[in-house]
Amino acid sequence: MSRQRSDEKSAFIFDLDNTICDTIAAIQSSIKVCYKYLKNHYLDIQYDEFMSIEEDVFNYLTIEKRLPVYSFRAIYWHTIFERLNLSKNPILIKNVISLYSDQLAKSVELFPGIENLLFELKKRNKIIAILSNGDFLTKASMIEYLNISQYVDLLVASDMTQVDKPDPRAFRYVLDQINLAPSKCVFVGDERINDIEGAKKVGLTSVYVKWPPKNKEKFIPDVINVNSPYEILSLA
Ligand SMILES: [Mg+2]
Repeated sequence: MSRQRSDEKSAFIFDLDNTICDTIAAIQSSIKVCYKYLKNHYLDIQYDEFMSIEEDVFNYLTIEKRLPVYSFRAIYWHTIFERLNLSKNPILIKNVISLYSDQLAKSVELFPGIENLLFELKKRNKIIAILSNGDFLTKASMIEYLNISQYVDLLVASDMTQVDKPDPRAFRYVLDQINLAPSKCVFVGDERINDIEGAKKVGLTSVYVKWPPKNKEKFIPDVINVNSPYEILSLA
């Protein structure tokens, strides 16, 4: 492989949830905290019923209604309240929305080896961007609690692009912001459709990460599969 000229900029664009940090565990603990909060106001709510309704509502909004993740926090909680037959008190709904976001940001943890990877990429003068489906405030809070903002040149959330991954416009928004051609960028993510297929469509080198515990895909053909953050450094 020929050595890259030092004046040629290149970038690593990362998905956030379940690529950089373990969000699955954090979501579970955040939902539990919301349940406890609501239980103080509505004594009759049962935990199992709440958890099952929450899952149903999330699937209904994302899969059936196909609403973008960044847009549905208010409708998500309104629908949960409706299914639980609770009065739709706007202040309680506002509080539970904030509680969920705060708790999520506080609960996420970096996967092992990620901070070292970001440190090494920065040392090699790489641009580091994050492209995440969701709203900017929640994602920026996560980055704050993860204590990685010193490595991140740009965070793009889908309320900025108005489209979720895998829509090519989300990826192109980042490319425009960092002013680089797709051939100069590597995209790293944990979801086959949203991350890998989306990134491939706009011509980015795609890296599929296999460290998230929930990651069921064993191997994706035609893209770079990695078992540890350290392996990504060989692309830098
Ligand atoms: Mg992800």
